[in-house]
Amino acid sequence: MFEAKYCNIENYQKIQQLLQGKDCTLVAVSKTKPAAAILELYQQGHRDFGENYVQELVEKASQLPQDIRWHFIGHLQTNKVKYIAPFVHLIHGVDSQKLLKEVNKQGAKLNKKIQVLLQVHIAQEETKFGFNTSELDQLFTIPELAQWNHVQILGLMGMASFTENRTLVQSEFATLHQLYQELTGRQLPQTNMEVLSMGMSGDYELAIEQGSNLVRIGSLLFGARR
Ligand SMILES: *Cc1c(COP(=O)(O)O)cnc(C)c1O
Repeated sequence: MFEAKYCNIENYQKIQQLLQGKDCTLVAVSKTKPAAAILELYQQGHRDFGENYVQELVEKASQLPQDIRWHFIGHLQTNKVKYIAPFVHLIHGVDSQKLLKEVNKQGAKLNKKIQVLLQVHIAQEETKFGFNTSELDQLFTIPELAQWNHVQILGLMGMASFTENRTLVQSEFATLHQLYQELTGRQLPQTNMEVLSMGMSGDYELAIEQGSNLVRIGSLLFGARR
């Protein structure tokens, strides 16, 4: 019998059961956890993993199976895009025009389209990164975007306030869902709205209720981080 050392397989199965039939993807957030922890879930058939730090992601990707879909969910610095561009599946945290432009540049070098989500600032906290609605509107009107053929904007990502106030979290998720739907109805360059990435260990059920179709879960699967 296979004994899991790093993963809570019971939680994994419970979450997968809940997501089944809801058309919602689970990204297992493995930041700070060893490659062996990722392999445990891989052996359960899981392929979508999320990482926050470029160097850590590059190291893990070089040690682990090629068919893992790597999601970069952290804050990405412009000068580090080149390290993950060759293999990353989806960059969740694109939060400025400058970063999007750089992703396009690296995509062009590799002659491929890099898939991204635009991070939207929905929390009350000042510290969370992301576009606000007017910055997002502005992005979609810049003429250069039509030329950035090496990015594919697949949707939006957001993080709710870190609070016990469920009503607040719910309304922040609802706001993002509404924005997602508005954009889905528009013809926008390089854009194909398919993914709404919201919800973590503490709030993923609320996020799904509010229309999330991708949740990013770490501690429920791999335990608390240092
Ligand atoms: C760390 C992290 C997560 C996972 O958080 P948990 O609370 O451990 O589930 C999800 N999304 C982002 C952007 C993160 O940085």
